[in-house]
Amino acid sequence: MFDNLSERLGGILDRLTRRGALTEADVDAAMREVRRALLEADVSLDVVRSFTDKVREQAIGATVVKSVTPGQMVVKIVHDELIATLGADGQTIDLNGVPPITIMMVGLQGSGKTTTTAKLARRLTERDKRKVLMASLDIYRPAAMEQLAVLGRDLDIQTLPILAGQKPEQIARRALEAGKLGGYDVVLLDTAGRTTLDNEMMSEAANIKAAARPHEVLLVADSLTGQDAVNLARSFDERVGLTGIVLTRVDGDGRGGAALSMRQVTGKPIKLIGTGEKTDALEDFHPSRIAGRILG
Ligand code: GDP
Repeated sequence: MFDNLSERLGGILDRLTRRGALTEADVDAAMREVRRALLEADVSLDVVRSFTDKVREQAIGATVVKSVTPGQMVVKIVHDELIATLGADGQTIDLNGVPPITIMMVGLQGSGKTTTTAKLARRLTERDKRKVLMASLDIYRPAAMEQLAVLGRDLDIQTLPILAGQKPEQIARRALEAGKLGGYDVVLLDTAGRTTLDNEMMSEAANIKAAARPHEVLLVADSLTGQDAVNLARSFDERVGLTGIVLTRVDGDGRGGAALSMRQVTGKPIKLIGTGEKTDALEDFHPSRIAGRILG
């Protein structure tokens, strides 16, 4: 439907026969294309603005070396800035500390939270050789609790027995206690989500955090949500406090803009990506891959 950014910028800038430093007018023409490409990749408007301002500053006056065209030069500046914004490779889960290490998963209903909890449990068990306990704190949806129990049975990973009538904080404390007594290395807390951002979900998550004092609070977010990702990440970070983000459905046809928006707004690293429905479809996050996708 549309050409990729490099081709488009090539079209605009490479008509310039003149070499040497890029002028303000050249760069502004290029920035209109960059802005369009980022919006098409579902990066939120505010983030697009601050991003293009940064790129503009670097591009004006940049000397175009002989081996590249002005278009390639601007694409390189955009690419490098995307990677700088998306963060470094190898941002992993922090497993240092006195066990059990507690990891709390938060996010909207349907974002892939329960599946991601099971995926992470599987990775920690198989790859990192940790003894993992999972607990569902979703007291509103018995089906969600059962879903985690079924995943646990399939993977041969323990889940906390379900007891009716407990509040989420009480379940969290019970999970930590069971984690200590059972000699577990990691306890994963799968919290309840709602279909939209709401105050109750936030205060419940904040209460669970206060009770469980987790080492990690990971926001599980659907990479296809695009613009809404910013509000989601900002609210969870302000109200609950995040240590990282897991992006799901990266196997879908989204262009990855949510990654840039969430990272820019919260400053929190994207630690993992979900790339499928199966429990082995969890990968480390590589900024260069997402940058390539955003550039189209
Ligand atoms: P929750 O309500 O946030 O706990 O969401 P679930 O874990 O139940 O996931 C909702 C749906 O998304 C399920 O059908 C999952 O199989 C699916 N899902 C989760 N993560 C991914 C992913 O990375 N890729 C794809 N394609 N589907 C996913």
